[in-house]
Amino acid sequence: MREYDDLEFAVRDLLVLAGAIRSCTVHPETSIRIGDGEAEERAYQYVSAALKSDGTPWMPNEIKAAIHNELALAADRDCPACRGRSERSHCERKAA
Ligand SMILES: [Zn+2]
Repeated sequence: MREYDDLEFAVRDLLVLAGAIRSCTVHPETSIRIGDGEAEERAYQYVSAALKSDGTPWMPNEIKAAIHNELALAADRDCPACRGRSERSHCERKAA
């Protein structure tokens, strides 16, 4: 298990790992919410486990808030930067 000293970073990384969000292949800084409730639940478990294992002091409600925040910031299903351009297939799930 990786160690994290930053809650926001941990949440984003583990949301990706759980399959709740992904990065745009063209714009890696853009998070895209996949919309999979089970993956989001799994991400919460990942984050809790990762933070528990290195003894960091975040409370469950802080973790939930951070996940909620990250999901709220993520674009819905496709990348807005790509959507704005003509080549809209960039962000489709061609890797899936
Ligand atoms: Zn994009």
